[in-house]
Amino acid sequence: MQAGLTFNQLADGFWVITDPGYAQPSHCYLVTGQKRAALVDTGAGLHDIRALVEELTELEVVVLQTHAHPDHAGGSHQFATIYAHPQAVGRLQRGWSNMELRFTLDRYAKDVELPAGVDAETFVIPPATTVEVLENRGVVELGGRQLDAFFTPGHSADSVCFLELEQGWLFTGDTVLRGQIAVEDSAAYRRSMIELPRLAELAKGLYPAHGDTPLESTVVVQVRRGFMDAITDRHPTGFLAGFATFQFEDFGIMLPPRRRRVREE
Ligand SMILES: [Zn+2]
Repeated sequence: MQAGLTFNQLADGFWVITDPGYAQPSHCYLVTGQKRAALVDTGAGLHDIRALVEELTELEVVVLQTHAHPDHAGGSHQFATIYAHPQAVGRLQRGWSNMELRFTLDRYAKDVELPAGVDAETFVIPPATTVEVLENRGVVELGGRQLDAFFTPGHSADSVCFLELEQGWLFTGDTVLRGQIAVEDSAAYRRSMIELPRLAELAKGLYPAHGDTPLESTVVVQVRRGFMDAITDRHPTGFLAGFATFQFEDFGIMLPPRRRRVREE
């Protein structure tokens, strides 16, 4: 049995919306300003997130994409404007075919009841129409509230964190979370993890795309330390889906095989 979208109000004009996802639940965050609202990520696309968002706000809603993986971008095509990293644009504009989603759906959705109108045999994520390209340190203005974009490649080339400085909300996507953090490019992640602790010092809490939320902003430092241990002298605790896994107390780091792990600079 597949549960639907759930939501929880975190503060005035601020909600977390949790999508059951494919393999694991993904969090999306709705933040309202005076003129428009931002939806940070849109879930797996099996549910109608737009209908839920329209119950929560009457404002125009723009999507801020932490990265273009299908468990976070599945509903983005439902919205007129998406802001994303330059490297996410092509992926969002292509959408995902049934073939590309099939392995995930067959593996994770075979025992769950899909929502009415969704058939695993034909499910696709349609192409997004308008994708606005973010700049590193660019600002998305909502009217009396703004979100700053910071490029943090590593989990994926197109990863972005967003900071609402006034309230201290740092949206970390899959870059920092309690759970398994898959790092596709260790050299890029290492550079991102030099800057992210400075941002986290400005934040009162982290709002990740999976797992417990919110997290204390000090988790960034713990993850950075674990990652540095993993790329230096630790032996992997296991292997999963082509990644070497390094398990720490509250999170795990997944790195590509050793030869690709750290690029010489
Ligand atoms: Zn994810």
